[in-house]
Amino acid sequence: MIAFIERFLHENDVDSIQELEAKEEDDILVLFRGMELQGTVEYGFHGSASKDFGGMQSSKPLAVIRPADREDVAKVIRLASRLEHLTVAARGNGHSVNGQAMAHRGFVVDMKSMDPIIEVGPTGTYADVSGGTLWEEVLKRCVLSHGLAPRSWTDYLGLTVGGTLSNAGVSGQTFIYGPQTENVTELEVVTGKGDVTVCSRSQNSELFFSVLGGLGQFGIITRARVLLQPAPNKVRWIRVVYSEFSEFSRDAELLVTQSEGDSFDYVEGFVFVNSDDPVNGWPSVPLDANHPFDSTRIPRNAGPVLYCLEVALHHTKESDDRRCTVGIRVERLLGQLGFCKDLRFEVDLSYLDFLLRVKRAEEEAKASGIWEAPHPWLNIFVSKRDIADFDRVVFKNILKHGVGGPMLVYPLLRSKWDDRTSIVLPDAEDDIFYIVALLRFYFPYPRGLSVEEMIAQNQEIIKCCNKKGFDIKLYLPYYNSKEGWKKHFGNQWTRFQEKKASFDPKAILAPGQKIFPKNW
Ligand code: FAD
Repeated sequence: MIAFIERFLHENDVDSIQELEAKEEDDILVLFRGMELQGTVEYGFHGSASKDFGGMQSSKPLAVIRPADREDVAKVIRLASRLEHLTVAARGNGHSVNGQAMAHRGFVVDMKSMDPIIEVGPTGTYADVSGGTLWEEVLKRCVLSHGLAPRSWTDYLGLTVGGTLSNAGVSGQTFIYGPQTENVTELEVVTGKGDVTVCSRSQNSELFFSVLGGLGQFGIITRARVLLQPAPNKVRWIRVVYSEFSEFSRDAELLVTQSEGDSFDYVEGFVFVNSDDPVNGWPSVPLDANHPFDSTRIPRNAGPVLYCLEVALHHTKESDDRRCTVGIRVERLLGQLGFCKDLRFEVDLSYLDFLLRVKRAEEEAKASGIWEAPHPWLNIFVSKRDIADFDRVVFKNILKHGVGGPMLVYPLLRSKWDDRTSIVLPDAEDDIFYIVALLRFYFPYPRGLSVEEMIAQNQEIIKCCNKKGFDIKLYLPYYNSKEGWKKHFGNQWTRFQEKKASFDPKAILAPGQKIFPKNW
């Protein structure tokens, strides 16, 4: 039996703790040897599984398992269920920002190490994809080999299928197709009991809906059936600027509520600072270096921040041949909008380049060191009722100098989100709500704010929203206390607990979310 008594030791008794940890690792080694995994196990690991994109937390897993298949995943979960304190975290690409994919003194299952499987079905309407596959791999395989593509995306595609399905997966296509969780029809899941189960809307539907947006609490997704559609050839990508939030939100809401096919194929928006600040200000808007931002076009009465509506329209070779149908459609759609005259930016690019647009930012950030800096990101869903006040108190006031990175804000439609999943949205029943994403992306202190200052600013925003009674919910939520989670889930909390008791009764899975302690 493994000795789990280190918690009784005095914190300063470093030698004893190290001895016990070494003993624990030896015991685990013996257990793994008897399991005959097809994949590999690494012990005493301090590499990437101890860190995440947030760069604010670190933890020391007992072992990192690189599974070869779903059976390996099931064996690891069954082993953990036999041992009193052991937990298991599936790690996608570790792009969480608050340690959600970590398991301190537990097992981290590195899902990305499984060979990516991307099999397009015979009808071309779906692809079966392994849970640890990166969305960028899904994109390239489907487009280049089949001329097909998933319908709903995230902005950045260096994320795994299982990782985004455990949250939602949101981008500029969400207003049409719903989040990525709405665009899968079947999942293969290894539950917290170690059972390998196939589920869908009609088969084991309780597990299917629980796992979608389930923060990894109910099972590890080993395969997802992702809906596909014909991929376009090219995309016209356009940005237009507003000085008034009311006009920006009116136009954005108009575009996301048009009937299908009558709007752009992608609608997002962001707030930027009304200054020449290279990161937060005017220079963050143009899409083409040859078309700079002409600040003389900004209305004189503009406030400290401005708004950019970002849209895109797909086009195919066929539509080009029909004498620029795209150009005509773009003018018709833009003609309805009230943006600042002459503050319009556009480029044509391939569909792959459009969907991989954040990859370029990643490469630049890696070269400059910003990628490795801490990222205390804050993502919030805000009800339509409160978004104008949110703009007034948060964007125009607390964040009037920016966050050192994109401040996204754009509307989504509740009717595109199945309320049987585990995702939590604002309470108000209005169909429209907004996503706000504060994506801090700046040089580490002392060039930028310290982590503490950025976290304090996030807390100030949340506190201010609570004080004003704004109807908000965190996206990619993170709480340290049970009370925080109870409040987050609201009247869905009891249901969430029941689902946990049903699919992961020993609370083995995703301990980094800090929702259920083991043996709760
Ligand atoms: P991880 O961080 O590895 O895991 C996240 C959680 O899911 C953990 O609890 C983990 O245990 C669990 N998990 C991982 N794999 C599985 C699995 N196979 N089965 C069950 N549970 C699993 N989100 C958006 O919606 N839209 C965006 O546009 C967007 N852009 C982003 C851009 C960047 C640069 C970054 C860093 C993040 C972005 N995100 C976005 C957030 C992202 O969707 C989440 O952080 C997501 O969880 C990251 O995926 P991952 O594969 O790295 O998951």
